[in-house]
Amino acid sequence: MEEQIDRRLGINAGMKRAIIQDLQCLLHEHHALVRLFKSALERMPNDDYKVVIKADKRPPGTHERTFNAPTVDEVAILIVGEETTKKVSSMNYYAYRLMIRQNADNYLLRFRRLFQQYCVDMYVIETERLTFIRLNQVLGRLLPNIGGPGGACRRLYTGVVSSMALYGAPIWADALRRENIAVLRRPQRVLAVRAIRGYATVSFEAACVLAGTPPWDLEAKVLANVYRQTVEARSRGTGPEPEDIARWRQESRRGVLRTWAERLEEPTAGVLTISAIRPVLGEWTNRQHGVITYCLTQVLSGHGCFGRYLWKVARREPTAECHHCGAEEDTAAHTLSDCAAWTTQRARLVEVVGADLSLPAVVRAIACGASAWRVMITFCQEVISRKEEAERARENDPLAAQMRRRRVGRRRLAHDRRIPP
Ligand SMILES: [Zn+2]
Repeated sequence: MEEQIDRRLGINAGMKRAIIQDLQCLLHEHHALVRLFKSALERMPNDDYKVVIKADKRPPGTHERTFNAPTVDEVAILIVGEETTKKVSSMNYYAYRLMIRQNADNYLLRFRRLFQQYCVDMYVIETERLTFIRLNQVLGRLLPNIGGPGGACRRLYTGVVSSMALYGAPIWADALRRENIAVLRRPQRVLAVRAIRGYATVSFEAACVLAGTPPWDLEAKVLANVYRQTVEARSRGTGPEPEDIARWRQESRRGVLRTWAERLEEPTAGVLTISAIRPVLGEWTNRQHGVITYCLTQVLSGHGCFGRYLWKVARREPTAECHHCGAEEDTAAHTLSDCAAWTTQRARLVEVVGADLSLPAVVRAIACGASAWRVMITFCQEVISRKEEAERARENDPLAAQMRRRRVGRRRLAHDRRIPP
C-alpha cells in the first residue's frame, strides 16, 4: 500500500499524502473495477503480462453511458497474457527499492555497511543469473566465432555488457570480496572469448588480455575513483569540469593497468600469450588500430588448429606432430616461426617484423604498428585456413581414426558452411 502511494506521489508531484491515501483506500474498498482488476491479476498463470490502458475503448455491447466519465475519456483495461515479455525486470525492482524519495523514508538506505552488502549481493545474484546464463546463449548466437559482426560491433557489445555489469560500481567497488570477484570473472570470460573469436578453452586471463579489457573488479575501481573525486569536488563547491573528469579517468586507468600487469606476473593459464602481451600491455590495450580475427586469436592464444592443441586439449589427434613438415610438436610458435611448410607466407612477415618471429617480438610489432598488424592478419588467415582444410581432410578420410571424427551432424554442417572453401 505504502509503495502504491509513493508511486502515485511520484507521478503527480505536490499532492497531499494523506488525501491520496484516503482516496486509495476508498477505491480499493468500494470500487468494483479495482476489485475486478485485482482478482484478474491473481488469476494470471504467471507474471508475464502487461497492462494496456486504452482511453477510447469500452467493452462491446454495453450502453455508451455505462462506463462514462464526466471529463476524461472512457478507460478500458486489457490484460494481455502469454506472448508479451515481463515488464518489471529484477533490475527495475532493485532500482525501485534503492530509490531515494523525498516524501518517504527508505529504510534500506539507513543500514550503511549492511546496505552495501545488500547491493553487492543483489548485484552478484543478477550477474550470476542474468548476465551469465543469458550472455552465454545470446552471445553465442550474436557473435559466432566464424562470420558474424566485425570488430567494431564486437567492441560495442563488450562495452554495453560491461557497462551493464559495472552499473552502480561506485557503490560496490570497495565492498568486493574474493567470492564476488570470482563470480564477476565468469561472464567477463564469456564476453572476452566472444570478443576475440576465441576457442571456448581460452582462459579468463588470456581472453581478457587479448581483448584488452581489464578485469571488471579493476574497472569498477576506476569508476569508483572518478566518482569519489567528483563528489569531493562538488562538496568543495568547485564543480568538476569535463576535462577534470577525463584526467581522473586517465590517471585511474593507468593505475589499473599497473595493477593488472602485476596480477599477470604469474598467470595460471595462457602463460605464453600473457607473457608475450604483458610487456606491451598499455600499447596493446590502448592501440587505435587492429581488429582481432578468428585466425589471429588462434595463433596468439595457441588454442586452435595446432597439433599440440588438437592432441592435448581437444583430444582429436593421437600425437602432437605437425602434419605439414613432420616436426614432432606443432604449436602456435612452431607455425609462426619454424614450420617449413609456411616459408612463402612468412616472407612478408619477416620483412615487416624482422627475423625474430617469437610471439613476444611479433606481439610487440603488431601492437605498435598498423601495417605489421595487417601483415600478421594475412599470414594467420592464409596459414590457418590451410591447416583447417588439412584437418577437415583428415577428418573426412574414410580410414581416419575414430578420435578424429568429433564434429558430427548439425554442428559439423554449420561449421563447414561458415568456412569459405
Ligand atoms: Zn610444421
